[in-house]
Amino acid sequence: MRPETMKAGVLTAYREPIEIQAVPMPPKPTGSQVLLKVDGCGICHSDIHLADGEQPGLPPSLPHIMGHEVGGYVYELGDQVKGYREGDPVVVWAGGGCGHCSYCISGRDLLCTEEFRWLGTTIPGGYAEYVLVENERFMVKLGTDTLPREAAPFTDAAITGYGAVRKAIPYFDPESPVLALGIGAIGTYGLQYLKLMSGCEIIAVDVTAEKLEAALAWGATYSLDGNSESLEDDIMALAGGQGVCAAIDFIGTDKTVNTALAVTRAEGGVIQTGMAGGVARVDGSTNPRHWSVNMQFSLGASLKQLREVMALLQTGRIRPIAVDYRPLEEINEVHDDIRHNRVPGRIVVIP
Ligand SMILES: [Zn+2]
Ligand SMILES: [Zn+2]
Repeated sequence: MRPETMKAGVLTAYREPIEIQAVPMPPKPTGSQVLLKVDGCGICHSDIHLADGEQPGLPPSLPHIMGHEVGGYVYELGDQVKGYREGDPVVVWAGGGCGHCSYCISGRDLLCTEEFRWLGTTIPGGYAEYVLVENERFMVKLGTDTLPREAAPFTDAAITGYGAVRKAIPYFDPESPVLALGIGAIGTYGLQYLKLMSGCEIIAVDVTAEKLEAALAWGATYSLDGNSESLEDDIMALAGGQGVCAAIDFIGTDKTVNTALAVTRAEGGVIQTGMAGGVARVDGSTNPRHWSVNMQFSLGASLKQLREVMALLQTGRIRPIAVDYRPLEEINEVHDDIRHNRVPGRIVVIP
């Protein structure tokens, strides 16, 4: 029997506690839509910005059900769905677009020029027992030994790191190290992809001692304190005085963007994925390498890249970072923990 209501964490006003409510079930899926029973929903810092009203115009209206890192089981299928059956374990790619522009047809709906759709942000998300997925193509099926709740956080942090490292591939040169700036969740996955794909020694930079230690365990060859006065000199020394072949900035402050540009070798690549709004000065008179460095920006990852990351996870070539499972009823404590940086790994709420 299809229930009439479901439990959901509802944002009713910015900067106010999320309310646990019984709300109407999502509509029955039609066409290529799929209704999932949510197994778990990952939470990240962008949820806090959304709940605090710091993303102008988002969500489009209140009350709203947040949650963009969703893993679940197929519950109901639209009549056009071909690839799934009831009970299939899946994760959901949060992006979506018009479905017919040149970006959408190549799985880069995130760059859609017609429509911005993001699960839990512009449409109801995973802080709920059920969530409606707009199209079966936004889902990735899991093997039987991966729980959707374990895989849920992969749909954001893990793929953002992947998208960035993939952009660095043309610059990798095993004779020169690569640099990873910022070893939070995205950077931790970034280190794993660098280890898999670069063939290079890896220099990790962070400002906390625990993260520097963890970086070595996740694949870094060297770890350096981002607060050190001699940081750039130390990186250059490890790079034989020439500079690193690629620098990936997972943070994006003035400091990290400038460091990335300063220490990347001639014709190397700086990949900018951190969104902290940093400003950098390009000046070939003080650093001639600036005239030939390649700077690229990287937003999220494509739907195809989510499938690739799930394949890496399910074949054991990457490992998940620690996940703390909490009941949806604790969502306000969870938000507070993230707001105050009290979360070492990732939190997944269970509705
Ligand atoms: Zn996220
Ligand atoms: Zn589009």
